[in-house]
Amino acid sequence: MFPDVRTFAGRAPIVNIANLLARAARSYPDNPASSSGSTVWANYAQLMKKVATMAAAFRDSLGLVPGDRIALGMTNCPQYLEVRYAAWCAGLIAVPMNAKLHSSEFSYLLADSGARVVFATPGLMAAVAPLLDELPDLDRVIEIGSADYEALGNGARQIEIYPSRPDDVAWLFYTSGTTGRPKGVMISHRNLLCAAQSYFTDVDLIGPRDCIVHAAPMSHGSGIYDCPHVLKAANQVTPESGRFDPEEVFSLCKHWGGVSMFLAPTMVHRLVVHARDSLSARESDHAFDVSGLKTVVYGGGPMYVADIREALRVLGPRFVQIYGMGEVPMTITALSREHIGDSEHPRYLERLASVGIAQSPVEVVVADEQDRPLPAGEIGEILVRGDVVAQGYWRNPEASAALLRNGWSHTGDLGSFDEDGFLTLRDRSKDMIISGGTNIYPREVEEVLIHHPAVAEVSVVGRAGSEWGEEVVAFVVPRSESAVTKESLNAFCLERIARFKRPRHYRFVESLPKNNYGKILKTELRDMLAAEGVEQAGHEADG
Ligand code: AMP
Repeated sequence: MFPDVRTFAGRAPIVNIANLLARAARSYPDNPASSSGSTVWANYAQLMKKVATMAAAFRDSLGLVPGDRIALGMTNCPQYLEVRYAAWCAGLIAVPMNAKLHSSEFSYLLADSGARVVFATPGLMAAVAPLLDELPDLDRVIEIGSADYEALGNGARQIEIYPSRPDDVAWLFYTSGTTGRPKGVMISHRNLLCAAQSYFTDVDLIGPRDCIVHAAPMSHGSGIYDCPHVLKAANQVTPESGRFDPEEVFSLCKHWGGVSMFLAPTMVHRLVVHARDSLSARESDHAFDVSGLKTVVYGGGPMYVADIREALRVLGPRFVQIYGMGEVPMTITALSREHIGDSEHPRYLERLASVGIAQSPVEVVVADEQDRPLPAGEIGEILVRGDVVAQGYWRNPEASAALLRNGWSHTGDLGSFDEDGFLTLRDRSKDMIISGGTNIYPREVEEVLIHHPAVAEVSVVGRAGSEWGEEVVAFVVPRSESAVTKESLNAFCLERIARFKRPRHYRFVESLPKNNYGKILKTELRDMLAAEGVEQAGHEADG
């Protein structure tokens, strides 16, 4: 007698992120929806049809039911969107996995999520296919581009978008596991919609003729940003190489125009070096054109002031910074293009070193150990709440409760606000060094050392030392062309920061250990130092 309550939006709202695609397909059917390199792969009408057909096949051929997990072991390619939106259309949970993982790490993610089907790009089949025999929940591994894959998109039946509830999980986002095992962050349809909408209020505007070039992995931030681009019926371009190659990125900017992309700071650095080298090589004919590059959104790790200033000098006012994390996808704070360009402001350099102001859908505070908000200027843990905050970790109630205690999502990052509401990250709380009873923030020391002309990369960590508690140790990657000495670095620090903050030891290394998203693994650096300590203690005991 009564209609399904799910049709009463006010009482039991329905939010399926796939509706963004249906909406774009209705209003902009002919707009390019996805492209491989410079070739259009599908327009919005074609993509929607494919997605609704695949979603039907997920039910009919693969026997999947709403709430089941399907995993994506895929490098960036146009089919990424097909699989992910088809999963959402069918009410399934997508589990995007970092394509650089080892087979044993894929195994862990698949077992933890209980995925029933994995889609794998050809290069990852060797790592993923053998897991079929190992994992009881896993029914199928389907290779992208295979006959089996094509059959899923060629059926006669299409289904309606599943009426998901706002808190239904859409995306299990596995943390990069810089400490311990990765955990699956449960990102809901509501979280994704909220993150997509705040892109327009806090990051940038997008028009239907614009595009996003997915130069960074779609399993991470770049993939989260496909939603605002679908919302505006913009084109999603995946580089043909499936990876980050500055030359290819610039040629795609030139081809498409109106290009945005999300890059980690290390990628921005590579882009800038490439542009700088190309510009100086081609100064005479002005052949190097960056006008097609509209916006680079950077985040995911610290951007040093020297690097962003050089990026602005070389590429112009094209940058926006965001601070986010899997648990609050892309949406904690933003440093706008205007703030990044406002070089006349009296506190310009401090602002450039900050991560900007709270994005509109979240409340952000800096708090003490009892989660009590601290005044501007004081350093504490950054806490976030709002509609974009994920509801916890998959099948891990203890970790979820710890994350969300007192109603706030605990970032594990330390920072401070200034009087104008600009947040400066000091460090991850676990990276802070306590020496002689005083806190030292490695980031501050790194900011100094990275300005030394002979330093290419640097990472600062603490090592247990008898006299002062922890000692400051700097791992330095020298620029290949220049010799660097401990004495010159020491003098450089003494001119710029308090004596107690300067590194007591330097290690010159060829490279720094990084995870698959390019984040420096300070845990490994600390482990290296701990192992040296054990060795040293052994020698001393022997002596
Ligand atoms: P993930 O969940 O892998 O995206 O990692 C999130 C973490 O990356 C945050 O908790 C921060 O420590 C770091 N992070 C994210 N954005 C920034 C940023 N703009 N500047 C510095 N660190 C950042």
